[in-house]
Amino acid sequence: MNAVNPNAAAKEQLSPIGDKVMAIREVFASGYTKEYAWRVEQLKQLELLIHEKQGVLLEALAADLGKCKTEAWISELGFVLSDIKHTLKHLKKWMKPRKTSTPMGAQPGKSYVLPEPLGTVLIIGAWNYPFQLLLAPLVAAIAAGNCAVLKPSELAENMSKLLSEVIPEYLDNNAFAVVEGAVDETTELLAQRFDHIFYTGGEAVGKIVMAAAAKHLTPVTLELGGKSPCIVDSTASIDVTAARIVWSKWMNAGQTCVAPDYVLVDKSIADQLLVAIENKITAFYGESTEASKDYGKVINQRHFQRLANYLEDQKVVFGGRQNIQTGYFEPTLVLNPPLDSDLMQQEIFGPILPIITLDSMHQAIPFINERSKPLALYLYSNNDEYKKKVLLQTSAGNVCINDGFMFMTNPNLPFGGVGNSGMGSYHGRAGFDGLSHLKTVMERSFKFDVSLRYPPFNKLKLSLLKRIL
Ligand code: NAD
Repeated sequence: MNAVNPNAAAKEQLSPIGDKVMAIREVFASGYTKEYAWRVEQLKQLELLIHEKQGVLLEALAADLGKCKTEAWISELGFVLSDIKHTLKHLKKWMKPRKTSTPMGAQPGKSYVLPEPLGTVLIIGAWNYPFQLLLAPLVAAIAAGNCAVLKPSELAENMSKLLSEVIPEYLDNNAFAVVEGAVDETTELLAQRFDHIFYTGGEAVGKIVMAAAAKHLTPVTLELGGKSPCIVDSTASIDVTAARIVWSKWMNAGQTCVAPDYVLVDKSIADQLLVAIENKITAFYGESTEASKDYGKVINQRHFQRLANYLEDQKVVFGGRQNIQTGYFEPTLVLNPPLDSDLMQQEIFGPILPIITLDSMHQAIPFINERSKPLALYLYSNNDEYKKKVLLQTSAGNVCINDGFMFMTNPNLPFGGVGNSGMGSYHGRAGFDGLSHLKTVMERSFKFDVSLRYPPFNKLKLSLLKRIL
């Protein structure tokens, strides 16, 4: 059999991007990124970057998405810092061999799983959390001992430019690179051989990424989106439910992959919930959300127009005001939209929340199951039996009962989609495991070389083997 050099194919495609990827692959092959000390140093450098550059990072987030400082801190910089802290605390333990028992037939011997880095990871980020979505996968990549090429989203242009400047300042330049650009550059990157591709973004590009990865048999993590339902039954505390829905829907002007996309509410409490949501919007953002420094903006005019089109022929019961020049799009509530309208067919990914009233809460489960598996599912209820039923009879990447995306704050919970909302997961150990190969090791002793398994076989050997295995 001919030996195949995995770097040979990539070497054929000479280009600045190809050269960069090749150089990084060679650094990985040199082996030093596997060292615990190197991983810790890089994670600490990332920590330092966030502390020292927080001013310019916050400015970039404000320029791209109108993010206020508190929101940007919680959901972007602070989020990554706490991921680093958790990783540094547990990394030594995660890297250790994970012992398992060894069956009698393989005694004397020992068995374990040894995590090893995959190699060079391509991380492609999305624009809505342009810092966190690129850097949190990077934390996992570093922890697992990998090299990485980062491709920030070109739509968050200020953050993309800034990261291309500050990452080389703080991190090991030989092991990491930032490649800026849009479709052409991403396409060129995807033509290279990587050992893993970690993509965050929409479903259509997810398919392009997976098709490109298939050419090299490269494994992928796809962090996609979809329409995340939010169920509210008549036993829920209306006031707390409204506050948490408003918090999770209008953070980042609704441009959050795990924002509730639509609400399914028991019709007996629908009016109360609507009023409570409207009151919370006013309480959080003031009488004029346009004047609020805490309310973000829509990323660009293309997305703005997409959102404005969703409102055509809909029954807007709250909000709806817009200014395409500034990106201001008022928190907007739509009551009982036609289910075949774009608003209910496409992921909204913006500040519009459809409210759908149900005659019976039993209708919620088939409603969800008739659609693609969502990234997140929210249930506000005090009814334990109903909670159990929804959990067992629906599928979603992540579920939160009686809150918005609070599960994101727990680094012990893997985060990822299922079905059309993605594959693979990360955060904390899930990220470390996802970007490691969990290598199986069995070590046998030379003692007791029982001949039972060796030919020639006979009836006695077979019956003994049947008892052992
Ligand atoms: P985007 O436009 O920023 O695209 C994502 C990345 O794909 C970018 O880096 C972009 O350069 C690249 N890209 C775009 N077109 C490409 C092409 N034709 N070929 C190769 N690469 C290409 O982001 P988006 O797709 O608008 O992101 C929004 C979607 O992402 C929503 O569906 C949202 O739910 C999802 N999302 C998911 C998560 C998650 O963690 N699961 C987080 C954020 C966003």
